[in-house]
Amino acid sequence: MAPPRWLADEMVGRLARYLRLVGCDTVYVRGVSDEEILSRAKTEGRILLTRDRELARRTPRAVLIASPHLADQWRAVRAAHPEVPSRVRPERCTECNGRLALYVPPPDRAGTGPAGVPWERVDHGLALYRCAECGHLYWEGSHTAAVDARIAAWEGTEPRAP
Ligand SMILES: [Zn+2]
Repeated sequence: MAPPRWLADEMVGRLARYLRLVGCDTVYVRGVSDEEILSRAKTEGRILLTRDRELARRTPRAVLIASPHLADQWRAVRAAHPEVPSRVRPERCTECNGRLALYVPPPDRAGTGPAGVPWERVDHGLALYRCAECGHLYWEGSHTAAVDARIAAWEGTEPRAP
């Protein structure tokens, strides 16, 4: 079953980022009216994430986020929707929610690729993923392991072996 799709309002931006990290299609909106939020969630089949109790009451598909703390927020989402993955999956851009696809760099890219990419490890088989919308590149490494470990700590479990 595909993980649920989300619409996060402006008070839960960090939570939205974590949902993208685990591969959930998560729209994050800022500066739009309650009516627009409700309408978009309904039209696109998204579950609303909000800290606004009144807003949450206005749709049957909402998770009310009571706590200002990210760990509590994560647990609230997973309690309501256990099908949300608890490990990083390279499927959604954390910057723009664009879809990620496996990216094979051109063989002559030596020295020309974007800075920060571990090209030596890519040459040895490390997979790269590219956002179809903004072109941002992603790969698995210590940063993804750190996110997995943080989520495991929030859930009180040990991270599973990859
Ligand atoms: Zn992107």
